[in-house]
Amino acid sequence: MQTESLPVELRYWPIKRYRDIYKKSLDDIEEFWGQEARKLEWFRTWDKVLDWDLPFAKWFPGGMLNASYLCVDRHVKTWRRNKVAIYWEGEKGEERTLSYSQLYREVNRLAFALQKLGVKDGDRVAIYLPMIPELAIAMLATARIGAIHTVVFSGFSSIALADRINDTEAKVLITADGGFRRGKIIRLKELVDTALESTPSLEKVIIVKRTGQEIGMKEGRDLWYHEIIRDAETNVPPLPIESTHPLYILYTSGTTGKPKGIVHSTGGYLVYINSIYKWVFDIQEESVYWCTADVGWVTGHSSIVYAPLMHGASIVIHEGAPDYPKPDRWWEIIEKYKVTIFYTSPTAIRMFMRYGEEWPKKHDLESLTILGSVGESINPEAWMWYFKKIGGERCPIVDTWWQTETGGVMISPAPGIGLVPLKPGSATLPLPGIDAEVVDENGRPTSTGVRGYLIIKKPWPGMLMTLYRDPERYKQAYWSRFPNAFYTGDYCMMDEDEYFWLLGRADEVLKIAGHRMGTMELESAIVSHPAVAEAAVIGKPHEIKGETIVVFAILKQGYSPSEELKKDLTGHLRKIVGPVATPEQIYFVSKLPKTRSGKIMRRVLKALVSDKPIGDLTTLEDKASVEEAKRAYEEFKRIMTQ
Ligand code: ATP
Ligand code: MG
Repeated sequence: MQTESLPVELRYWPIKRYRDIYKKSLDDIEEFWGQEARKLEWFRTWDKVLDWDLPFAKWFPGGMLNASYLCVDRHVKTWRRNKVAIYWEGEKGEERTLSYSQLYREVNRLAFALQKLGVKDGDRVAIYLPMIPELAIAMLATARIGAIHTVVFSGFSSIALADRINDTEAKVLITADGGFRRGKIIRLKELVDTALESTPSLEKVIIVKRTGQEIGMKEGRDLWYHEIIRDAETNVPPLPIESTHPLYILYTSGTTGKPKGIVHSTGGYLVYINSIYKWVFDIQEESVYWCTADVGWVTGHSSIVYAPLMHGASIVIHEGAPDYPKPDRWWEIIEKYKVTIFYTSPTAIRMFMRYGEEWPKKHDLESLTILGSVGESINPEAWMWYFKKIGGERCPIVDTWWQTETGGVMISPAPGIGLVPLKPGSATLPLPGIDAEVVDENGRPTSTGVRGYLIIKKPWPGMLMTLYRDPERYKQAYWSRFPNAFYTGDYCMMDEDEYFWLLGRADEVLKIAGHRMGTMELESAIVSHPAVAEAAVIGKPHEIKGETIVVFAILKQGYSPSEELKKDLTGHLRKIVGPVATPEQIYFVSKLPKTRSGKIMRRVLKALVSDKPIGDLTTLEDKASVEEAKRAYEEFKRIMTQ
């Protein structure tokens, strides 16, 4: 924890203000969230703040509101009508800018067209689009008429798409002819056609013309987006929606297993993200907010579409890969649009560290005020690099811990209400209203510095309502492990200042000779070696020790694999973590198996080195990573048996 290298002013921001607000919020959560809810515009006030029938929460029942009204109509009534809502940057450098009034018009036209197609309140609409403005428009149009969207990341296969359409029984799909990635056309419509061979619920497909290549159109089913909105009316009244009506269904990333269909409410979810984006990102109407996640993940739902638009900020949407055509693509975009809040993942930061600081140095990044990180724990090295090279030692880093299930950030510094001293690698403290705790197997709070399970002891408005059509699994997965508490599935530790340190997935823990070690601790130690850019650590079953440590490491530019380096890494790990952390094997690879959202799929590596079936791979980003790991492992086995 390299706090000593932080500039003084970042170390001494006041903590008292946070503590006061936090304590008060938990004294009476209904009072607290009731106050927060008043910050939105409701068509009808709720009858009650919370109806809590553990584990089922109804937030603001009886209250009526509309997400698209809050994100668009509200601004159109003010000066913001002519301000930029969306800056879109295409992969080939194309630009599109939509003001709030233009966004209003587009949302209304599509809402009208959807209604004409017979989409009604409660119907499910699947969205499978590249990162183009129509993605946000489709979500808002669906919400406007009370339908429920399920966004499927456009990098997913036809099987993953069909699964999600079938699980939600979606009636309409909004997609595109294709998208661009690294200069190539991704033929989305072909994937759609394959998926729709096995989706009985689906009636209509709406296709945005993005790439313009020839595609097949199925008579009676397929419709061009631009044709159906051509004569559409631009004034569809936003339907008042009851607070507990689902806003969307979204599947988790699948890092630990088969994705789960998370259902989010309208009122609770919107109240929650409205408040936390103020606290965590200090978002203002003059902010230019850029979250680099895909809208296909919860980060994109909350951080690209709903929260920044509710706040009347300008958002940046970028289509394409982060390092294409050059490794300064992102820094160029920040400079171009004068981005003030930038939100990305540790995996992206580590990738840019590998490219070197000369790339961000080419650009003026002075507009930045706050930097965010999400998706995995950020190792202190990456934190410091981000802080210095991107934030110019000026911008606080908000390391935000949350999940698809939580709807919004739960543990994070909150500069919008008073920034606490930062510690690189720690998500710091829970947000107001979030009763987080770290407990042992038996649900008792762990002592300082002892790893345990992260749980949430009180309901919060952003929480999932259930798993789609599977309330039993919802109960089982989240509310049965510890009594009266939400189980996050993550390992965590609290330090002497009660700061939270996330230590990876609880089901990815290693059990070595009686010691239980989180993957995160070991990976962070390996990555602190100057030669290593990224690493995955897994436990391989072992007859005597229980498990042994196996490391897959990607080296930084300028380093090459050698037996000597392996020895050096082993020594490094033993020195930092202790002698018990002696790896049995270290493999050097050029890629790690990751989910499409950029998280390491340790379960895949674990299955591989344990000679077990690899399991669900629908969310795997790049099959070549598994092939490479497999080759490295096979080669090792061959040498060992010679
Ligand atoms: P699945 O539940 O299907 O395995 P997933 O957990 O990867 O998928 P998400 O909901 O996208 O799906 O990810 C949430 C998880 O990401 C958290 O539970 C945590 O493990 C990790 N995470 C997110 N943000 C942070 C952070 N700031 N620090 C540490 N871990 C984080
Ligand atoms: Mg999860």
